[in-house]
Amino acid sequence: MKAALVCGAGGFIGGHLVQRLKNEGYWVRGVDLKYNPYAETAADDFVIADLRDPHLCRSIVDRRFDEIYQLAADMGGAGYIFTGENDANVMHNSATINLNMLDACQKRNNHKIFYSSSACAYPAYNQEDPDNPKCSEDSAYPAAPDSEYGWEKLFSERLYMSYRRNHGMAVHVARYHNIFGPLGTWTGGKEKAPAAICRKVAAARSGDAVEIWGDGKQTRSFLYIDECVEATTRLLRSTFPGPVNIGSEEMVTIDRLVDMVADIAGKRIEKNHIPGPTGVRGRNSDNRLIREKLGWEPSEPLRKGLEKTYAWIESQVRRNAA
Ligand code: NAD
Repeated sequence: MKAALVCGAGGFIGGHLVQRLKNEGYWVRGVDLKYNPYAETAADDFVIADLRDPHLCRSIVDRRFDEIYQLAADMGGAGYIFTGENDANVMHNSATINLNMLDACQKRNNHKIFYSSSACAYPAYNQEDPDNPKCSEDSAYPAAPDSEYGWEKLFSERLYMSYRRNHGMAVHVARYHNIFGPLGTWTGGKEKAPAAICRKVAAARSGDAVEIWGDGKQTRSFLYIDECVEATTRLLRSTFPGPVNIGSEEMVTIDRLVDMVADIAGKRIEKNHIPGPTGVRGRNSDNRLIREKLGWEPSEPLRKGLEKTYAWIESQVRRNAA
């Protein structure tokens, strides 16, 4: 039986990844500071542990794993990353986790490891035009991410690649672009735009206005969680190290995203644009490299994923209100 280790298994993507690996017949150990608040874990072994502790990392990597996925990070949506208030924690916590995990894996001869970087690693100067953002993998340098979160991701990408060069580790790095879906954070300040919009629309009555940060003309693309998990496992099982984008090329404005969710909900929703942290003006995944190297691209349009996500968040909102 193959064995996998998922760090950040109590989180959104990690939880889905554990389920996928279990469906494939793997024995899975998950590690996180917490259990996923929305679903029972599918992991065979779930360890509540702080990966900032190097000794704990050594004790978790106590056997051979066929696949290791390092997703644990101190992160959140724009309200967490772009206000500046959490910068020291974001940089210190995430960098420490990556330093510890790579050291533990290398010393225990566990060489196959996936690392989740982010589109936030791309320079702000290429993302000022909402209609023409540039996010090809080779455009990451000269580096100028617009958040400390992005700088930490760049540092850690380089750390993983150094272990590949110097220690022969089979490192694989993806730059995720806005992953969304059920069982993700939808309230509390760390939620991302699709979840926040679904929550606001679910709580609104037809004819109400929902608050949107910025002018709504900023653009993004969003990738449904099942597609992300498929691309992630394909990348780790390939010979291609990356870094490579895992995202969708279906770019929409935030206003358009609100309209799509309102349409799914069957409600007439007005938009009240208010000042708030918005990040770069435009961002879209560039999937040329992943198409070429892995033959992968998303299989469904954004709307399909939004329908499933809205249904789940609406049920959460209803349950909370009851
Ligand atoms: P998430 O916040 O739901 O999951 C991260 C998990 O890491 C959390 O459960 C958290 O408790 C855990 N964690 C944090 N510090 C820890 C520590 N010290 N020890 C143990 N566990 C710790 O986030 P997610 O959306 O599932 O993202 C997973 C990874 O993908 C992260 O590295 C994130 O930066 C990256 N990423 C995600 C997106 C996205 O759109 N979701 C986009 C780009 C990159």
